Amino acid sequence: MKIMSINAGSSSLKFCLFNMDNESVIASGLFERIGIEKSNYYIKYNGEKIEQEVELTNHSDAVKILLEKLIDLAIIKSLNEIDGIGHRLVHGKDKYKNSVIITDEVIKDLENFKEFAPLHNPANVLGIKAFKNVLPDVPMIGVFDTAFHQTMSEEAYLYPVPYKWYTDYGVRKYGFHGTSHRYMSLCMKEILGKEDFKMISCHIGNGGSLAAIKNMKCIDTSMGFTPLAGIMMGTRSGEIDSSIIPYVMEKEGKNASEIINDLNKNSGLLGMSEYSNDMRDILAKCEEQDKKAINAKNKYVRRIVDYIAQYYVLLGGVDAIVFTAGVGENSSPIRREICEKLACLGIKIDLDANNKHGEFVKLSTDDSKIAVYVIPTNEELLIARDTISLINRTGLN
Ligand code: AMP
Repeated sequence: MKIMSINAGSSSLKFCLFNMDNESVIASGLFERIGIEKSNYYIKYNGEKIEQEVELTNHSDAVKILLEKLIDLAIIKSLNEIDGIGHRLVHGKDKYKNSVIITDEVIKDLENFKEFAPLHNPANVLGIKAFKNVLPDVPMIGVFDTAFHQTMSEEAYLYPVPYKWYTDYGVRKYGFHGTSHRYMSLCMKEILGKEDFKMISCHIGNGGSLAAIKNMKCIDTSMGFTPLAGIMMGTRSGEIDSSIIPYVMEKEGKNASEIINDLNKNSGLLGMSEYSNDMRDILAKCEEQDKKAINAKNKYVRRIVDYIAQYYVLLGGVDAIVFTAGVGENSSPIRREICEKLACLGIKIDLDANNKHGEFVKLSTDDSKIAVYVIPTNEELLIARDTISLINRTGLN
């Protein structure tokens, strides 16, 4: 069976076409700057890559070109070969605890929940509608970023604020990156050969979150009501004292949404270093003994260590810690610093193994009390797996 995974952003559309008989990638690519000038796309297939600048006024244009190209490039012979489409969906509030077949009700809910994910949910709907127009009979499945975190207890997801905020306005921790954290737990299940284990999943990229997982279920996660919460990220602050907001509003004559924009886009590594949100740039500046870059890097590491320590206690010890996403998969110095700061938990890593990047590797030594792994994330594959399993379970094939 051939399944397409789709991740539609406000001005982008990422796809990955899988042959699910062996879970291999047939083709993948990205359409960028949709609705903006200089829009372009690339498609990778069969060891080749085509790139083109082309006018993309909306997501439907991108989908039209994508499907035409799949045929023109002989990646598939006919659109009938596409057995299902899995969409990455961002916010399903507390209604969606698992992946679902996309119905009109799901589309309506995505629209209704848009104030919880103003950039992402409307973009997800655009992606769904663009495919529905051209492939109305192909089953479509939605995989929510928030779903995996729905197993958190009230103690974990409620904020210590007036209860009315929760009951009347939906103010609670939702968590994000759920598909990546779930993929990590499935990989660990395969590695350990059992489901009853405790792990901490560290998805650290430009955005980042940690999840405490017990017996394959999320117990707690670091992102919250929005992705602004938790650890420090590329451009996001993570947790700060909320009283800073009205204080800086007054100092800078800004309104609340301008300050939230600063906390989302001008903070984190970028804000502290006044240089870059990219860890590679920060590490290069650290080599030059740049004080702001060193502070930014140290704070970044410290926040992650704080959360790992917190989740270690919450879970009552852990069997494994897993690093994934851009920094987690690639940055040996950051992984090393984090693990060194956790030496008091009995963690020991092999520095040669830690020099590898972008691939699966066991970092911990045999005498480490906790196993530490790097596992490249693959949300697209998990979306495709959910798609095929829902299609088979519901007889949509
Ligand atoms: P992601 O959001 O998962 O795509 O991660 C993107 C981030 O990963 C970039 O902004 C970089 O900070 C980081 N990254 C990617 N490659 C490396 C590397 N080799 N060393 C350090 N950081 C990296």
